Amino acid sequence: MPRKRQRQQVQIVYRKLGREKARGQYCEATGVIELDERLAGEEHLEVLLHEALHAIQPHHDEAVVERDALNLARILWADGYRRTSP
Ligand SMILES: [Zn+2]
Repeated sequence: MPRKRQRQQVQIVYRKLGREKARGQYCEATGVIELDERLAGEEHLEVLLHEALHAIQPHHDEAVVERDALNLARILWADGYRRTSP
């Protein structure tokens, strides 16, 4: 019997995260990724990947997520991936 693949339902919300002292955060209970609306460029990509990794790999510790997001962002940025909508 084929294994069922579960697709993570994640919603991305943009707002100013000054009070949280974070560039992004993920809430496992709601499945919401919040990103600071002032993020841009490669930093935006890195923070999005970071929070997405928390969403899809909740058992990974912060150091692993940190490293993987940075490496993925560098690879994707170097290959020309850019955000096309604000
Ligand atoms: Zn984190």
